[in-house]
Parts: sequence; structure tokens; C-alpha cells
Amino acid sequence: MARRGNLFILAAPSGAGKSSLISALLQDEPADMQVSVSHTTRLPRPGEEDGVHYHFITVEQFKDQINQGHFFEYAEVFGNFYGTSKVTIEQTLQNGIDVFLDIDWQGARQVKAQIPDALGVFILPPSRQELERRLNSRGQDSAEVIADRMAEAVAEMSHYDEFDYLIVNDNFDDSLAQLQAIVKTQRNRLSRQAEAHSVMLAGLLSQ
Ligand code: GDP
Ligand code: ADP
Ligand code: 5GP
Repeated sequence: MARRGNLFILAAPSGAGKSSLISALLQDEPADMQVSVSHTTRLPRPGEEDGVHYHFITVEQFKDQINQGHFFEYAEVFGNFYGTSKVTIEQTLQNGIDVFLDIDWQGARQVKAQIPDALGVFILPPSRQELERRLNSRGQDSAEVIADRMAEAVAEMSHYDEFDYLIVNDNFDDSLAQLQAIVKTQRNRLSRQAEAHSVMLAGLLSQ
């Protein structure tokens, strides 16, 4: 049986750079890593594609899926529903592929409760001013949406201490290198290595 993949949870206030970091990490399409594509009831931004950035669905469809137990976790964020599909995550992990979840702190809690081995990474902006500048420079949300997200940012950031690693996303390349190092370290944890090398270990330790 293939070794199970690692589960990584990335959370941050909107605009801190999570999506950019995940997409840079997966830019070369490594066969052993995937980002989980969430379901959401929010409307697509210009340039967002259904099935690529999100599975865009209606509130009614979302509620049906909740009732059918399709979500591994879900939460209401900024007045919209967001959720992670159970089947997709389970199958991907079972195939030995590492999965990256770009989710909020409420979802992160639900995931940790079910998979304590999941590794949580929280991403902070270097300052509030810089966060606001990034939300504006992304140029995809209205002034009203940006004001809402800034107002929510402090609440989201107050949960930073529920995570295992903290990255301050000031210089992007430094942050990416930190994320890559975290992924490598997680892959070398004793429990994972012992599972991957059980036959070799038995050979090394036999009398
Ligand atoms: P972004 O913050 O600019 O990336 O904006 P998004 O609209 O992509 O995400 C909105 C919020 O929903 C963020 O806090 C995400 O982390 C959260 N989110 C996205 N997908 C999921 C998901 O599948 N489950 C949960 N619980 N939260 C999610
Ligand atoms: P999130 O997914 O957390 O909402 P994004 O990845 O969409 O954030 O980043 C928000 C904006 O900030 C984007 O325009 C992105 O290009 C920019 N950005 C991300 N990281 C940095 C950084 N380290 N320095 C400057 N700009 C950044
Ligand atoms: P955006 O609307 O900017 O795409 O996302 C806003 C927030 O929703 C982000 O902080 C993002 O991480 C969170 N989010 C996106 N998908 C999910 C999800 O499936 N579950 C949870 N809990 N949060 C999500």
C-alpha cells in the first residue's frame, strides 16, 4: 500500500499571500503535491475559473452537500460558504500525494480535530498597511469587500497561535523558501520515515 500523503493547512488573513505562495510552491506541478480546490458560494473574481480556483456553487447546492455529508470541513467566511470535499482529500492522501488546504481558522480547527497529524502553517503580512496595500493591488475586490476583509483580518490573525509554523510574508522568495523547508521537514518526521523505510529498518536492526 502506498504511504499516505501529508496534509498541510495554510491560513492567513485575506491578502497575506497564501494563494500566491501555494501556487509558487506547485508551479512545476510536482506529482506528489496538490492544492485542494474548495467549494464556495462566493461569485468568481475576474479570471477565476470554475474547477481550478474553486468549484463555484449556489447556497442551495452547498446546503445539499452539507446535508449529504460531503464536506470534510466547511465554514462561513465573509458572508459566503467555503468547504473542502471529503472524498477528494481522502483519495488524494491515500494515493500518497501531499495535500495543501487554503482555508480559514475555523476550517483549520475542524481539520486538526479529525487529522491531528495535519500540519498548520499561518501566514502573516508584515504590517496592516502592507496587507491593505496588497488587497488593493490585487485589484480584484471592490472597496467595500476590501474594507470588510481588513475589518476581519485582526480576528483571523488572532488565531495564529493555533498553528505549528508561522511565516511572516515580507520578502516573497524568503517566505517560499520557508514553506518549502517546512514541507521537507514534515516529510522527514520519524513516524513517516519509519513507515516508508520499514523494510530497510528491519534489515538494519536485525541481529
Ligand atoms: P483570499 O483570502 O483572498 O484567498 O480569499 P478567498 O475568497 O479565496 O477565501 C476566503 C476565505 O475562505 C479564506 O479565509 C480562506 O482561507 C477560506 N477558505 C477557502 N477555502 C476554504 C475551504 O475549503 N474551507 C474553509 N473552511 N475555508 C476556506
Ligand atoms: P491571499 O491568497 O492570502 O488572499 P494573495 O496570494 O492573493 O493572498 O496575495 C495578495 C496580493 O499580494 C497579490 O496581489 C500578491 O501578488 C501580493 N503579494 C503576495 N505576497 C507578497 C509579498 N511577499 N510581497 C509583495 N506582494 C505580495
Ligand atoms: P477568497 O474569497 O478571497 O477566495 O477567500 C477568502 C478566505 O476563505 C480565505 O482566507 C480562504 O483561505 C478561505 N477559504 C477558501 N476556501 C475555503 C474552504 O474550503 N474552507 C475554509 N474554511 N475556508 C476557505
